[in-house]
Amino acid sequence: MAAATIDFIDLKAQQARIRREIDAAITRVLDHGQYIMGPEVKTLEKDLAAFTGAKHAISCASGTDALLIAMMAKGIGPGDAVLCPAFTYTATPETIALIGASPVFVDVEDGSFNLDVKGLEAGIAAAKTAGLTPRAIIAVDLFGQPAAYDAIRAFADAHKLWILADAAQSFGATLQGKTVGTLGDITATSFFPAKPLGCYGDGGAIFVDDDGLAKVMDSIRLHGKGEDKYDIVRIGINGRLDTIQAAILIEKLKIFKDEIAARNAVAQRFTTSLRSVVTVPEVRQSATSVWAQYTLQVPADRRAAIAASLKAAGVPTQIYYPRPVPAQEAYAKYPVASGGVPVSDRLSREVLSLPMHPYLDEATQDRIISAVKAAVA
Ligand SMILES: *Cc1c(COP(=O)(O)O)cnc(C)c1O
Repeated sequence: MAAATIDFIDLKAQQARIRREIDAAITRVLDHGQYIMGPEVKTLEKDLAAFTGAKHAISCASGTDALLIAMMAKGIGPGDAVLCPAFTYTATPETIALIGASPVFVDVEDGSFNLDVKGLEAGIAAAKTAGLTPRAIIAVDLFGQPAAYDAIRAFADAHKLWILADAAQSFGATLQGKTVGTLGDITATSFFPAKPLGCYGDGGAIFVDDDGLAKVMDSIRLHGKGEDKYDIVRIGINGRLDTIQAAILIEKLKIFKDEIAARNAVAQRFTTSLRSVVTVPEVRQSATSVWAQYTLQVPADRRAAIAASLKAAGVPTQIYYPRPVPAQEAYAKYPVASGGVPVSDRLSREVLSLPMHPYLDEATQDRIISAVKAAVA
């Protein structure tokens, strides 16, 4: 008899752990009835600021809105270029295009999957060739590990660019002892259910130290409000986080550190057991990851067979991402750094993500490890 299929991400185990607290939190919101910007929203924002060490945490409706609001606050628009990695989720460049600016795609590094700082110079050149003004870099913390913000900062300062951290996958990770939320000039994260810290719907948050920017971003998420909600001082959006989602996140944040430790224990075990047979993900010495994904690299011509073998053993896999963004029809017209994005192209053919979540017990980890060893043999 075939063994039961393992969950790729198991949200049920977490729910069972805190179901009573979640039910009570939702009941409190139903009782007070302030579904929009209720008291839980402020409480969550205080908790998020304390967790990250950022001066301001501003909750919002999604990770996509978090990116959008940050760029709107900085006045990015037509004629501007924003450099971003070619190997990322669509939401990163989508927000740049939505405000009328142009993404300029830069390659990533092998190993960390994050922006290759050596490619930024070629990104600037491509922007200028296209007649655009380089304004910002969106660094993406892919699969849960912060990008190389130290080196990105040096480059950004030299070129007078600002840094937006797309931390949708890395909330809770650290770099050189600093927590995600304090690494970019502005940081955007997502609480989509499958992200390391997820709610039960869409949600996101923005982190910033600058008081003026915090005020502008708070206004933008509330339709550009001024002193009150019928005093409109700028163009904004409906970008609020629901009170119910804030109430859920308050409870989930209480167990998040414990869950990060559990994710790291799983990743460590995968790495120790698999590094001799397959290319495992690398975390830089100065960084910690929250393992939004645990992503292997396998030979491109064998990936489909390896995934099929794992599937037959009850181990689901995912391909994040099957194509670099500039290879998508919708993004074909935007500039790519000269020399192209060969690493992104190759990674899109080689990556294979394994099941990863904090409630993966050792017996299940062992099943996954054995199945991978058999599949790549
Ligand atoms: C999930 C994700 C987003 C978007 O977050 P949503 O909450 O789904 O809008 C943006 N960037 C990256 C890298 C993501 O993984």
